[in-house]
Amino acid sequence: MNGPILPGATIGVLGSGQLGRMLALEARRMGYRVHTFAPDHDSPTGQVADLEVSAEYDDLDAVEAFAAAVDVVTFEFENVAAEATAAAARHAPVRPDGSVLHTTQNRVREKRFLAAGGFPVAPWVEVRSCEDLVAGIEELGCPAVLKTAGWGYDGKGQVRIGSPGDAEGAWTSLDTDEAVLESFIEFEQEVSVVIARGLDGAMAHFGVLGNHHVRHILDVTIAPAKVSRKTASAAIELAEHIAEQIDLVGVLCVEMFVNAEGELLVNELAPRPHNSGHLTIDACITSQFEQQLRAVCGLPLGSTFQLRPAAMANLLGDLWAQGEPGWASALRTPEVKLHLYGKAEPRTGRKMGHLTALGATVEAAEESVREARRALRLKIETGTFPAVKG
Ligand code: AMP
Repeated sequence: MNGPILPGATIGVLGSGQLGRMLALEARRMGYRVHTFAPDHDSPTGQVADLEVSAEYDDLDAVEAFAAAVDVVTFEFENVAAEATAAAARHAPVRPDGSVLHTTQNRVREKRFLAAGGFPVAPWVEVRSCEDLVAGIEELGCPAVLKTAGWGYDGKGQVRIGSPGDAEGAWTSLDTDEAVLESFIEFEQEVSVVIARGLDGAMAHFGVLGNHHVRHILDVTIAPAKVSRKTASAAIELAEHIAEQIDLVGVLCVEMFVNAEGELLVNELAPRPHNSGHLTIDACITSQFEQQLRAVCGLPLGSTFQLRPAAMANLLGDLWAQGEPGWASALRTPEVKLHLYGKAEPRTGRKMGHLTALGATVEAAEESVREARRALRLKIETGTFPAVKG
């Protein structure tokens, strides 16, 4: 094995959104150079990178030229085709490996991987036609959720099926030839574990994060999550086993449902830093982005020790409906930190930034971050987390 990729070297990032931006900021702090590759111009990552290459992901010559100019390639965007990661891999190590992306960017492949590894998932079936869907509904019962196999995120490409009569309309509306049908889970709460795994197989996680979604989009994360010790250990163990089984080098987020009995079902994998881990920037010794950098560079992982309880609230484009949000009012709470991603167009549902608050307790942190966001005139309906069980 070659030695670690050291400060002064160049990190290549496929994708140019906020995840790449936060990685690039950490990388530059540590003395690395950053190149980003995506079809966009003046992107969130491009604004803070040394070089922004604007080209399509299927322009394999451009991908090869990009990879030839960097020391390691990683990604912040999941829907990069296997051909593009293979093209990059001809010139520089790609971490995590393209095969990890290939598995996790398609829900059928991801479910097969999880099922083969014996990891708990909601009952599901593959669907390639309306007939498959009708048979699937018969097998799983209602309610159920139909999800496109590819290109789904933040609840996009998903339809809830309330009764067998919904089959035809749901299949037509998804406009796909590959999907999964899952039983609808009456979960008590949603949690995630963000875990890093180094080149040497060492692993470090940030504990269990508690996630509250609104309209299928992450709204608020708290750390630590309000789960029993037993559920927390089980969630971490699942994430460790998955990271090993998929042979991760980098960061992986495992999203899970927790039922009333404290049992876990894996919902989704993301082989990169995750929105639910953003609070690690302000709350932990090493953030999920620094950890990604360390892992893909073959460096030792940093301490994930959490300095104080924390909460993160997303800032969606909706917040701009009545004009520019009142940034100064939100920052009146001294323990609130503002992160904006440099996106020019505040569209509905678009992630524009986030707030993080630290507090003496997780409840206090959550209250501060919600209060700060209210001060920005947020219109989104919010909820609170349930009490700890068992
Ligand atoms: P996904 O894109 O699969 O992460 O789904 C986005 C959100 O939709 C999840 O975080 C859940 O809040 C909800 N959801 C997805 N699948 C299910 C399911 N099988 N049962 C209940 N809620 C679900």
